Amino acid sequence: MTAPAAITPIEFIFLGTGPSNAIPDVTCLTRPNPSCKVCLLATQPAERDSRPPRRSDPRVAEVQMWNKNRRGNTSGIYRYRDATGTIKNILIDCGKTFYASAVQWFVHYNIQQIDAVILTHDHADAVMGLDDLRSWTLHRDGPVQSTIPIYLNQSTYTVISSIFPYIINASKATGGGHIPSLTFHIFDTPTLTTFPPFLINATLPVTPFPVEHGRKGSDPYYCTAFLLPHLTYISDTNHIPAPVFELVRRSENRVLVLDCLREKDFASHQGYESAIPCAEALGVPRVYFMGFNHECEHGEFEKVLESEEWGKGLREKGVKAEVAFDGLVIQL
Ligand SMILES: [Zn+2]
Ligand SMILES: [Zn+2]
Repeated sequence: MTAPAAITPIEFIFLGTGPSNAIPDVTCLTRPNPSCKVCLLATQPAERDSRPPRRSDPRVAEVQMWNKNRRGNTSGIYRYRDATGTIKNILIDCGKTFYASAVQWFVHYNIQQIDAVILTHDHADAVMGLDDLRSWTLHRDGPVQSTIPIYLNQSTYTVISSIFPYIINASKATGGGHIPSLTFHIFDTPTLTTFPPFLINATLPVTPFPVEHGRKGSDPYYCTAFLLPHLTYISDTNHIPAPVFELVRRSENRVLVLDCLREKDFASHQGYESAIPCAEALGVPRVYFMGFNHECEHGEFEKVLESEEWGKGLREKGVKAEVAFDGLVIQL
C-alpha cells in the first residue's frame, strides 16, 4: 500500500509478541521442579541486546532488558511522519499486558503520545488494557493528551461497551475512580468481498480485512487485520481466506507481521506448519512472525527458518523471514 504524499512511514515497534497468557506463564515457574524451557528463559536478563534505548532524561533509570522469550500480548506501535513532519504513534491493540509493555517500551524508546489506537478484535489480549489509557488523559501534572481516538468495528465496540460501560458513558461509573477519555470511531466491518478503507485522524489510510480466528458457533470468528502504508498486520488467525491473499499481494507492501503460535496449528491460531507456507504464498519480501506460546523458543524457531526443510521455500520466493520479539524495531 503506497503512502499518500503527506505520510512518511518510519518504523514499527513490537510491544508484545506472545500469547494471551503472556510468557512466562506464572504456573510454569511456581510448580515443583519447573521444566518449561521457554518460561525459564523468559526470567533471564538479556545477554547482548539489539534494542538500544532512546531516552533523553538520565533521571529515569534504564529499564531491565529481558531474554527474547519474554513476551507480552501481541501489540505494536506504527510510527509515521505527517505533512508537518510530526511523528505520530498508532497503537495496534491494547490488551491485558499493555501497561507493563508500555512501562518497558514507551520508557525505553521515549514515546509519549498515543495518537490513535486500532483494535483487531474483542478478545481480552486485545482490549483489556483500555482502562489503563487513563494515564495519558488524566494526570496530576496535566494530561499528555485530552483524548485518545479508538478505531474499531461494531462488534468489538459492543463487547467493550459491556466490559467497560463507564468508559462509554461516564454516568455509569461507580465509586469515583478515574476514567480514561476515549473517542470511539467505528469503521465498517470488512467482508470477504469488500474491504472498506478508512482514515485515522483524517490522514493515515487503513484497509481492514477479515481473517479467521477460530469459531463462533458453527461460523468462523473473524479478527480484523490491516493494510497500513508499507505494513500488513495479521495478528490472530488460524486461516486466511483466499480473497485476502489477493488483497495482500496486490497491496505490494514490503513488510508483513504474521501470527504463529508454535509448530502445530491450533483452533484459533496457525502454527508454523501453516504460517510458513502462508508467508511463501503471500510473497511479502520481509516477514516477522509473532504470537508465540511457550512451546516455541526464540532461538530454535530462528533455526527452523534457516533450515532446508522450512526455510528453503521462503528463500526461493525471495522472502526474508524473522522471529519477532518484544521491543524489536523494524524500519518501514
Ligand atoms: Zn511455560
Ligand atoms: Zn484473539
